[in-house]
Amino acid sequence: MKIGVIGGGQLGRMLALAGTPLGMNFAFLDPAPDACAAPLGEHLRADYGDQDHLRQLADEVDLVTFEFESVPAETVAFLSQFVPVYPSAESLRIARDRWFEKSMFKDLGIPTPAFADIQSQADLDAAVATIGLPAVLKTRTLGYDGKGQKVLRTAEDVVGTFAELGSVPCLLEGFVAFSGEVSLIAVRARDGETRFYPLVHNTHENGILRLSVASEDHLLQTLAEDYAGRVLKQLDYVGVLAFEFFEVDGGLKANEIAPRVHNSGHWTIEGAECSQFENHLRAVAGLPLGSTAKVGESAMLNFIGEVPAVDKVVAIDECHLHHYGKAFKVGRKVGHATLRCDDMAALELKIQQVEALIQG
Ligand code: AMP
Repeated sequence: MKIGVIGGGQLGRMLALAGTPLGMNFAFLDPAPDACAAPLGEHLRADYGDQDHLRQLADEVDLVTFEFESVPAETVAFLSQFVPVYPSAESLRIARDRWFEKSMFKDLGIPTPAFADIQSQADLDAAVATIGLPAVLKTRTLGYDGKGQKVLRTAEDVVGTFAELGSVPCLLEGFVAFSGEVSLIAVRARDGETRFYPLVHNTHENGILRLSVASEDHLLQTLAEDYAGRVLKQLDYVGVLAFEFFEVDGGLKANEIAPRVHNSGHWTIEGAECSQFENHLRAVAGLPLGSTAKVGESAMLNFIGEVPAVDKVVAIDECHLHHYGKAFKVGRKVGHATLRCDDMAALELKIQQVEALIQG
């Protein structure tokens, strides 16, 4: 089976690493000459709107999936005429736009911060008067790793902020004083079977995910599964979907969903019976899903900007390095390590060892 992937970054690379043992081949559509998934399959180097290359991709593969959600709607619509596309165009339409996403949470009875659609500075001023400060202004689309958003704490912060974010459609959200951030990685098969991985605790730095720790019997697991299950059913979703929540007052508030494999699920490569990457491929290919049970305790640490000395990382027992082969760049995710242990105390020590390498 040949899988077409829109995007050729590290998520595409890890999809190919998971799918190759299943007998799958891959073609990546990505305009970047140095797309890091390219060595693992065929690289169609073209823009996402290039219909000739989209047609070529559709002709060559059995199905198409995505490694990022900001794909133009026309690209998805065009491909869908010729080849099965998972997740669906509708799932991407909702997930890539914060307004549609939050409106869906509200319609499904899933708690989420107060929010308002912002099309102008006047809209922003009016929404601040209703929602109050602090609040967060986010672009409706194309935001990632804390980009395209600004925390508004004082009245002065509000002045001119719509223009500062590019005068594009935005969403104003109430600021959530959360006690923690967790994510749930879910997978839904073509026949509707749904499985969930254990909730993951996430720590961000400057808006970028730094550390994910898979949790043991989290009290909010059932609630998170209930909320995610509603979304998966609503979208008739196929594939892996990541659901990010704020933990607040002993409950959950939905932050956002990602219609793809997710950074906070990378630990599943070594830490679960079947990884998020393999389960995504199983789902889209119509294969039975694999077990989402975890194997011991696991944590994932991102390498941002540069990867520490490889010999030092791999010298740590049960520390699994994933080097994406990308060039150094401030703020860019260039690799990660998964740490495995039998107990949480030992895992904490291992996290500190890798942190020390990162700090150099
Ligand atoms: P996002 O791109 O929406 O996931 O936001 C990136 C990070 O900003 C989140 O992981 C939170 O740490 C923080 N953040 C986003 N929205 C809010 C909010 N409404 N209240 C407090 N912190 C937020």
